Amino acid sequence: MQRLSYFPLGWWPVSLLLFLGFLCTGAFAAPSQTIRSATLIAADGAKEVSLPHVLAASEYEPEGSLVRFRLQFELPAAASPEDGPWGIYVPKLSLSGRAALNGEFIAACDFGALSQLRCLHRPYLFVPPSSHWRAGPNTLEFEVFATSRQMNGLSAVTIGPAQALREGDYGWRRFIQVTVANGLAWAAFCMGGIVLCVSLALRGDRLYGCFGVTALAIALCNLNYTLTAPPVPPRIFSWFVFSINHVTMPLLMLTVMLFFRRNLRWAQRGLLFFMVAAPAAIWTSGNNRTVVALLYVPFMLFGPLLATAALRWSWRSHRKADHWMAWSFACVVASSFGYLLIALVASKGLALEAIGVYLVTYVIPSTVVVMGATLAGQLATALQTARDLATTLDRRVAERTEALTQANQRLEALSTTDGLTGLANRRHFDDILAKEWQRARRHGTHLALIMIDVDHFKRFNDTHGHLAGDDCLRQVAKVLAQRMLRGSDTPARFGGEEFAIITSMDLESALQMADLIRQDVESQPIALEGKDPVHVSVSLGVTAWVPDSAHAPADLIALADEALYQAKHAGRNCVRSAMPEHTSAPAAC
Ligand code: GH3
Ligand code: MG
Ligand code: MG
Repeated sequence: MQRLSYFPLGWWPVSLLLFLGFLCTGAFAAPSQTIRSATLIAADGAKEVSLPHVLAASEYEPEGSLVRFRLQFELPAAASPEDGPWGIYVPKLSLSGRAALNGEFIAACDFGALSQLRCLHRPYLFVPPSSHWRAGPNTLEFEVFATSRQMNGLSAVTIGPAQALREGDYGWRRFIQVTVANGLAWAAFCMGGIVLCVSLALRGDRLYGCFGVTALAIALCNLNYTLTAPPVPPRIFSWFVFSINHVTMPLLMLTVMLFFRRNLRWAQRGLLFFMVAAPAAIWTSGNNRTVVALLYVPFMLFGPLLATAALRWSWRSHRKADHWMAWSFACVVASSFGYLLIALVASKGLALEAIGVYLVTYVIPSTVVVMGATLAGQLATALQTARDLATTLDRRVAERTEALTQANQRLEALSTTDGLTGLANRRHFDDILAKEWQRARRHGTHLALIMIDVDHFKRFNDTHGHLAGDDCLRQVAKVLAQRMLRGSDTPARFGGEEFAIITSMDLESALQMADLIRQDVESQPIALEGKDPVHVSVSLGVTAWVPDSAHAPADLIALADEALYQAKHAGRNCVRSAMPEHTSAPAAC
């Protein structure tokens, strides 16, 4: 039922690519030297440290102070000119920093007051002018502004040809940490925007609305990685960066519950409360890292529970979209445990490079894109189903309309046709006479009526039976129909064994036609079952005149009937006519 062909890429190829890229950052080391030790001049004095080094709380003031890392290294007498200018590659420099080579300022991570800047999560390549380098011993100094609001430290520093570093380690790291992270953030942002628009179009659909806000919030999370000079004071920015995950995760959980249509009121209320309470607690604690870390605990407990439940729901539903959603969420939950790993690594002061790339940074936005694509796929499927239904409905309506039209036509024919003879019935006769009367009156043309009555039909019935009588009536009707030469001539069964013809002839023509009918009936034998054929005759009364306002259609019938009466009296099997002036026209017997 669910179509998943809308997915251009699943989450796993993206993650795999990122992981390989991450591994490659070490594999592509440039032919250069890496400095792995430094003299740390900190609040508690000067000492030798190995790099990477994460600053311990005792090494800086909690509210922020400058610490210095001094790195000594030897350069060959003359760098090869083919190597081009040399660069200093710093995979990670926390929190904000400034670098000097042999006492000459070379760069800061960005311009502005040092305490306002951030160099987080971004590799740096400083390329000092060649005059700054010295053959023999060199001193590289990093000033790091350290506070308790962020992890502080310096990674191992690599010196080498700038071009080689750009194409190797630095290039890869920059691609993964800046280009990919930003690309994913933008993808999540666009997905969120689109889904939010869909939610509005669906008149505030809760699922799409909740997911749209989640995706936008997750994209905003990555501000942490893109902004080096926040436009707001550091305390507000740090609070935002620390709090946003405590809002996005509950939102994501609400989305999952809405997607699986699980109305767990207690869980929904709890998550909504957490979304407000957690940022408030972080702000009140002054962005304390321990408080932030502790607030992850509810996720760590509820996340796996919900992920397990979602996997069970999807397992039962057998819908592919459900599987995508459940597994995506499970990935997010699993990756969020990466924070624990980071905290562990950081607390041991181990491998600062290793924590330079947070897998969760990539997993969550790419998962959000997959979830958005799942929702889009679901919407597309619903749209396709609606289209199919509309097409089926249109076809059925057309079929039913056609059937109804045919039924109406049949009903119309039945209501205007005499069942025995197939001629117009009396009702239809009355309608046509009224219309023809009006038409002839409008155009000033003749209207004739011929009344036909089978002679001694009662006797025929009595002698040969009513079924034979019916055959006889059918044969007379056939003769009448055959004689109708003009389209406007209407033969009808007037009632019983009486017929009538409405025609626009004048009296003379009508009389001729009446006599031809009389001759036809007389000459054509009626076949009887098991007996010799017999002949019947008809008497005909004719009248014709140009209708005027002084008369009505009923007068035409009355006069034709009168003429028929005369024909019966004249001995039957003959034609008589009657006119309003009571002048008889010539008649044939
Ligand atoms: P006349 O020459 O004066 O017209 O005599 P008649 O016997 O034809 O006239 P009458 O009005 O006495 O009889 C008409 C008969 O027509 C009576 C009725 O049973 C018969 N009849 C009317 N409708 C039908 C019908 O649908 N089928 C059959 N078989 N007979 C019918
Ligand atoms: Mg009769
Ligand atoms: Mg009769």
